[in-house]
Amino acid sequence: MDNSVKSGSQNGLAFNPNVAALPPYNAGMNIAVARSISGRNDIARLASNENPDGCSPAVLAVLASPTLEPWRYADPACAALRAALGQRLSIQPDTIVAGNGSEELIAAVSRAMLVPGVGVVTVVPSFGLHEIEPLAQGAVVTKVAMTDDLSFDIAALEQAVASGPRVVFLSSPWNPVGPALDRKSLDRLIAAVRPSTLLVLDEAYFEFADGSCPDGLEVLRSSDIAFVVLRTFSKAYGLAGLRVGYAICSDAELARVVAAAKTPFNVNAAAQAAAIAALSDEAWMRASVARLRSERARVGAALEELGFRVASSQTNFLFFDCGRDSAALASALLQEGIIVKAWRERGYEAYTRLTIGSPADNDRLIGALARIARQ
Ligand SMILES: *Cc1c(COP(=O)(O)O)cnc(C)c1O
Repeated sequence: MDNSVKSGSQNGLAFNPNVAALPPYNAGMNIAVARSISGRNDIARLASNENPDGCSPAVLAVLASPTLEPWRYADPACAALRAALGQRLSIQPDTIVAGNGSEELIAAVSRAMLVPGVGVVTVVPSFGLHEIEPLAQGAVVTKVAMTDDLSFDIAALEQAVASGPRVVFLSSPWNPVGPALDRKSLDRLIAAVRPSTLLVLDEAYFEFADGSCPDGLEVLRSSDIAFVVLRTFSKAYGLAGLRVGYAICSDAELARVVAAAKTPFNVNAAAQAAAIAALSDEAWMRASVARLRSERARVGAALEELGFRVASSQTNFLFFDCGRDSAALASALLQEGIIVKAWRERGYEAYTRLTIGSPADNDRLIGALARIARQ
């Protein structure tokens, strides 16, 4: 293979140049690869923000139930799930679009809104798909850097938003850094949004945030801007492997166009049933979130004790400056059977993101980091 793959294959095929030139998505390491490198069977998977508590038993029950009919096509409109969400959130189901993970909805929003050459604003360090999906549509992506104290640069974001991009993608709480937009900051950004701009607020970690953070959906609903709020069952509800998330749109017409940009049978039957079951067992999710938040405080304090600079977090992960190439730290941890995510965006290669795991896995991580930090 040579570089010509970017403009077309050896057979003379012409690719979509925007897609052929996309940067790779930096996914967490595969467990089989981690086992073969570390020679250990008990891998601590702390790279992908999965829930170490698993999921509600109500989900496992519905997945094993005879009411699930894998031979039938699932409802392409996800009507039952959207009705349940509408009731939970007190919103009209026709403003909700369900997706094969909220990742699919980032792609659908991009496809619905973007044409080559238009502008998109996001942040850096960024959630990869907030950049990759706009680039796939040929958009021009501007990334606003985090501040030296590891938070949102509200003044710079306000200016970038006011420049009138077609779409703004922000996650709050922020993956990979951790803080959430406070009420005042969110209000400032909303005030800067022009009528031609869609604000996408990706709240994948909404359930982990504490009372100091506003409910983005509530704030946006009381504004008059066009918005999409993204939420997911992958993190707090522990359904990452089933792939189900949703978009709440500011109006039904926006939801119709976003839905038109997805594939028709995007959320499979098991995922639809599981999401409804997960919603019906809010108590399980809340208990898991409480455990993970207390572990987050414990691990964060241990990292600081070891001398690492750690960003504040309203999520189920921690982002910290490891004072060296994070790839070296990640490979030292991998030798001990622990997978973390070494950040690779330019300028941020000294940062590592680690997911809060089970107490035992967190102990292992703290022990390993203490050994490595002493070297
Ligand atoms: C994990 C994550 C998602 C993806 O969630 P899925 O619903 O599993 O596709 C979306 N946005 C952010 C910011 C995330 O961290």
